[in-house]
Amino acid sequence: MARMLTEATPAQQLLELLGPVDRFHDRSELGDFGMPARAYMEDLAEPMAKASAFSRIGPLEKIHAFWFAGMSCDGCTVSVTGATNPSVESLLLGAHPGLPRLILHHPVVNVESGPHFMRAAEMALSGELDGPYVVILEGSIADETRAIATGGYWSAQGEEPWGPDGELRPVTAAEWIARLAANAAASIAIGTCATWGGIPASEGNPTGAMSMMDFLGKDYRSAFGVPVVNIPGCAPIGDNFTETVAAVLYFLQGFGPLPEFDELGRPAWLFGETVHRHCVRGAYYEEGTYAEDFGDKECLVEIGCWGPVVNCNITSRGAISGIGGCMNAGGACIGCTMPGFPDKFTPFYKRPPGSLASTAASRLLGSIIRPLRRYSNDHLNREVRWDLHGDTPTGWARRKSEPNALQEVGHRFYDKMRRSSDTSKADVQPWGKRAEWTEERDPDRERDLSVRPGVDRARKG
Ligand code: SF4
Ligand code: SF4
Repeated sequence: MARMLTEATPAQQLLELLGPVDRFHDRSELGDFGMPARAYMEDLAEPMAKASAFSRIGPLEKIHAFWFAGMSCDGCTVSVTGATNPSVESLLLGAHPGLPRLILHHPVVNVESGPHFMRAAEMALSGELDGPYVVILEGSIADETRAIATGGYWSAQGEEPWGPDGELRPVTAAEWIARLAANAAASIAIGTCATWGGIPASEGNPTGAMSMMDFLGKDYRSAFGVPVVNIPGCAPIGDNFTETVAAVLYFLQGFGPLPEFDELGRPAWLFGETVHRHCVRGAYYEEGTYAEDFGDKECLVEIGCWGPVVNCNITSRGAISGIGGCMNAGGACIGCTMPGFPDKFTPFYKRPPGSLASTAASRLLGSIIRPLRRYSNDHLNREVRWDLHGDTPTGWARRKSEPNALQEVGHRFYDKMRRSSDTSKADVQPWGKRAEWTEERDPDRERDLSVRPGVDRARKG
């Protein structure tokens, strides 16, 4: 135990192996290579920024965000660039009052590439950057010490003159994170690979892939005292990320407290509920009716849905712009936001064993509840007038059948129960809402209730 407490983190072990760095590209020699727009992304966006130096609020005018891709499929990038609430574009333009402008350094989004793209990260390392920065990781971190032992690397971003005698060598995402995280205002892991290791860390992987939290260790705190922020999902909901970034930026700007995170660094307001609690198919589960095939409308638990035990808000938030999301689109939950994903959820699309007890109970209860609900539903689908005349004057082909005597007694009993709590009208006849038509309410009124006003009377006349 004592050995574990003093053991260096994987990040520290990597830096011990690689040693310090003090050389960077000679910027005077870079030329136009990697600059098709002949400008840096920040310079291109600056004229379009919404706020001026006079209208910006708070101490931070801008904040840099370094996005590194480890063992990833770029799905997180696709999700985040589709975010709408807030959108990446609005963050880049500083369009939100009180928020600093986000200067994004993203290998897919930026217009510059090569050494020009890495310039800002070099400046962050050398302390020359003109503002604070956050580090964002997409994809898991491979154990690069394994690759170094064989002379290779797993996952790199850019080259720096950090080889023997100033030779260029690929710099891994792991190395960038290890070098930059200590002075970052915040370190944010996006997607299940970065938050918990995810698919690259599943059984059989040769890379020793791990999460940002595992890599930096439990004692890690950013320069502003924040542990690693985790926004899981495979792929994650883009809005979950941009909203959390905005909330953290408000905190860094001094406009609000640190948003609430759970014990694993997830935004508590986004991951506090299970999928099941907001699922559009939840009522089918409750009534004990289950899909047998994909495409069926009922609850998907028997064909592999883990929703009742998974923390994820896609059922209430949707995938993009409030639309889509697994169950909304017919997909069963495979637990992609969870630290145990994927190994604890395989084989996919097979019934979770733990659901046996709850589905059996729901089936039993549902066999009683469903007919009772149908019974009430039939009653509530009738006007009181139709009850009084014993007829439903619909011209549609599916003519509604009239309740039989037993059903009528049941409906009257139900209505009586319903009205029993209405103390202000305790004396009112409980059958439906037009009690004034009944003899109890107006005994002097001689109304032939079997006559339909305007129809039967006309016929009689
Ligand atoms: S489909 Fe999944 S999340 Fe939805 S009700 Fe069924 S078990 Fe719950
Ligand atoms: S519902 Fe399940 S599979 Fe779908 S995004 Fe959420 S955790 Fe992943």
